[in-house]
Amino acid sequence: MSISKTPQDLVTGGAGFIGSHLVEHLLQGGHEVWVVDDLSTGRESNLDQARHMAPDRLHFVHSDLSDWLDGAGAKRTFNSVYHLAAAVGVKLVVEDPIGTIETNIHQTSAVMRFVQNSATPLLMASTSEVYGKGVRDRFAETDDLLLGPTTRSRWSYACSKAIDEYLALAHYQQSGTPISIARFFNTVGPRQVSDYGMVLPRFVECALSNQPIQVFGDGTQSRCFCDVRDVVEVLPRMLDRDKCAGRVMNVGNDTPITINDLAATVCDVLNSSSEIVHVPYEQAYSPGFEDLKCRVPDLGLIRSTLQFESTIPLERTIQDLALEYSRAGGAT
Ligand code: NAD
Repeated sequence: MSISKTPQDLVTGGAGFIGSHLVEHLLQGGHEVWVVDDLSTGRESNLDQARHMAPDRLHFVHSDLSDWLDGAGAKRTFNSVYHLAAAVGVKLVVEDPIGTIETNIHQTSAVMRFVQNSATPLLMASTSEVYGKGVRDRFAETDDLLLGPTTRSRWSYACSKAIDEYLALAHYQQSGTPISIARFFNTVGPRQVSDYGMVLPRFVECALSNQPIQVFGDGTQSRCFCDVRDVVEVLPRMLDRDKCAGRVMNVGNDTPITINDLAATVCDVLNSSSEIVHVPYEQAYSPGFEDLKCRVPDLGLIRSTLQFESTIPLERTIQDLALEYSRAGGAT
């Protein structure tokens, strides 16, 4: 099939949280975008704004990705592919480790077969979870990965994503397909839902209704949160073959905040009287659940290569999440 002059992009998992923001960003740039999503954790309504922006340039396919790639999609060609479809979220991973492992490895291998031996640039979403429980001030892309034992299912997500990375880099090495890998640290913002264990939307929902905010563990663990609108801006730039093909790059923000401070900030910004309560990990997840104390990205590579800097402060992200939640009448 011939490609029109308008760049045509495929976004797998494009009805998800990060995917739907990426779709809008691509449409804003004049692209035509195909979204394939099985809506397992995504929602078609996440694409409402995109549809409104460019109804003729957005195509939504409700399907399992590998089914579509093997069937109706097999003959299609794209200018770029963004692979975001995955089983995501600590809660989902703990509750359905089989689904997590199978989805992440199977879908990625289907996408790799789809682009193999082609010149189509592919951006694959990975995660800071692959750093596992290593202890460092900052995690850089070439650092060793330290995963927990296979008897702790929490690590199955990290391990499946690490296999995805190996597979993507093997395709780059063996067939020259220009593949880049984005290791996202905690990404937050509008459309993120609390259903699968994401911390910020959960805190915002509780704060808005003045319900107790549950902090898992003692709350001294810290994370770095980056607004999704900052994250999606850099993803098309990561398709630059010369600068990024065959590379892994951390994507995020490098200012850590403890989960206790995050809960307090949410209460402050939303003027909430929610009480902050601590819940042991064993109670929140499962006996023996392992968490990490601190996870800060080394952003040296993405800064020097693509001049990436996040710009949206956490307070604005909290306000925007709250506004969206209130507009939806409390239901996300
Ligand atoms: P999300 O759950 O909102 O998005 C994932 C999307 O993939 C969903 O829309 C889901 O329905 C879809 N999907 C899952 N299995 C599918 C299948 N078999 N066929 C078609 N579609 C399928 O999560 P997200 O936060 O937007 O995550 C997007 C990507 O970013 C994922 O690869 C995830 O691992 C990665 N990531 C996210 C974060 C974060 O903080 N949100 C952090 C690290 C990595």
